Amino acid sequence: MTNANDNLAGADADFDAVVVGAGFAGMYMLYRLREQGLRVRVLEAGGSVGGTWYWNRYPGARVDTETMFYSYQFSNELQQEWEWTQRYPSQEELHAYAKHVTDRFELWPDIQFDSPVAKAIWSEEQQYWSVETADGAQITASYCVMATGCLSAVNTPKFKGLENFSGAVHHTARWPEVGVDFTGQHVAVIGTGSSGVQSIPVFAEQAAQLTVFQRTGNYVIPAHNRGLDPAEVAEIKADYPALRAKASASFSGNYFPVGGPSAVAVSEEERNREYESRWEVGGLAFMAAYADFMTSEEANETASEFIRNKIRGIVKDPATAELLAPKQLFMCKRLCVGTDYYETYNRDNVSLVDVSEAAIDEILPEGVRVGETVYEVDAIVFATGFDAMTGALKRIDIRGVENASLRDLWEDGPRAYLGLAISKFPNMFMITGPGSPSVLTNMIPSIEQHVDWITDCLADMRARGVSRIEPEADAQEEWVAHVNEIADLSMRSTCSSWYLGSNVEGKTRVFMPYIGGFPAYVRKCDEIASAGYTGFSFR
Ligand code: NAP
Repeated sequence: MTNANDNLAGADADFDAVVVGAGFAGMYMLYRLREQGLRVRVLEAGGSVGGTWYWNRYPGARVDTETMFYSYQFSNELQQEWEWTQRYPSQEELHAYAKHVTDRFELWPDIQFDSPVAKAIWSEEQQYWSVETADGAQITASYCVMATGCLSAVNTPKFKGLENFSGAVHHTARWPEVGVDFTGQHVAVIGTGSSGVQSIPVFAEQAAQLTVFQRTGNYVIPAHNRGLDPAEVAEIKADYPALRAKASASFSGNYFPVGGPSAVAVSEEERNREYESRWEVGGLAFMAAYADFMTSEEANETASEFIRNKIRGIVKDPATAELLAPKQLFMCKRLCVGTDYYETYNRDNVSLVDVSEAAIDEILPEGVRVGETVYEVDAIVFATGFDAMTGALKRIDIRGVENASLRDLWEDGPRAYLGLAISKFPNMFMITGPGSPSVLTNMIPSIEQHVDWITDCLADMRARGVSRIEPEADAQEEWVAHVNEIADLSMRSTCSSWYLGSNVEGKTRVFMPYIGGFPAYVRKCDEIASAGYTGFSFR
């Protein structure tokens, strides 16, 4: 391996690059940087690779994006040799895949586990980052890449009295590795987003009584998960690069069958046929039925009502069905994909408590109190999601030039150039940061695009003999304004969702991801790179 240090900033640094996080982003970043001959150290908070697919071990956890396309494509050998067993593999299978990739590309020696990063401080004098883990150990590196994930900082609402609860408390995203046995227990679940939707049916099978506390009903499309047919897999693999390219050319980077331009330009009969067939196929492709769900309330209402009627048809108790039937726009919050979700509410041991108006008042030693009613339980599961997109970064004390604090600068919402880099934070990159399409797209292709862009940028800098890069403040402001402007054109920015930070108490509401679609974003990044990285300043 060549030592590239001569051409990089901070020649005295311990490493050329430090990567924070060994999820799918950090793993691929390590691979690409090492390929360039850089000395890299990855710091990972968890005990293994895989990020999301390491932490989210709750019962029922599985990906809800078709896995033949939710997987790495950077290595054709890898994508040809790896055998997925299911359309939507379980967390265990995804974690096994992450470990396989780490074995195959010999990534293990450069990853340091159980090392949550607490601080990252830029030294103007040394021209390097000093990164400190929670135990006080420090390493220095010329470049710092934050591969900290969009949905990794756990959100646990601060319910009054929680510390007095006498039973067990769990969060879906921090599930014990040894599992939890709810047999014979009365269990409360708070939260009905994707994590709740996947875990509630599994808990219901085990617990004596399950009480679900719902603040907002969600749209849940059936997953219809199944084993993958070898013939179908062979067909995809035979044409993998072309099919991947087709997926990347789509708005969300997914390989969805494209529907019509408008739900209201067709007859009700035709529209319902389309919805019915997508419901039967299952999964997120329902979103691609028509292109105007996020621009026309009338179009949106047709899909919303179709799903509400499905719920009314499945759930036997009409009052429960009406509670489950979502009131907000379809797709405004992240669409959920589930298995037997609505059916679970027909079980005698499952009840639904509406906390949309009368909120949870407090947690008592014996259970959950809402108004005058106390729901006595042995365990509480928080399926309350994440401080999305900015939480993982703001929980680290990140200081740039003149000791600028990222936490302070992002107090009123994130500001970043292309969601890739931040003014005042030289030689720092983010993978799928706020202001990039990230969570509105298929995450793995989005991760690969960012990692490739960063790698190419660093290679270009080395070729030109420059060692310091930082976005210009004006270019950043222009990008942020553009991100906000197009978010305002979409109804997606109008409801309470984690895209806007409204699930976290006190968080400023700003629509954080770039909503202009994956192809437009990739074009923009490519244009900027080909024009010599416009909007960035170099030294
Ligand atoms: P989430 O979508 O944010 O859902 C959190 C739930 O907790 C919501 O129902 C929320 O209600 C509720 N909640 C939060 N604070 C509450 C409070 N104080 N009182 C009562 N209820 C409260 O989180 P998530 O389910 O973990 O999913 C987050 C994202 O992760 C998903 O949208 C998806 O992108 C990803 N994910 C993907 C998969 C997959 O691929 N299969 C699985 C899980 C998660 P409100 O809606 O009213 O805020």
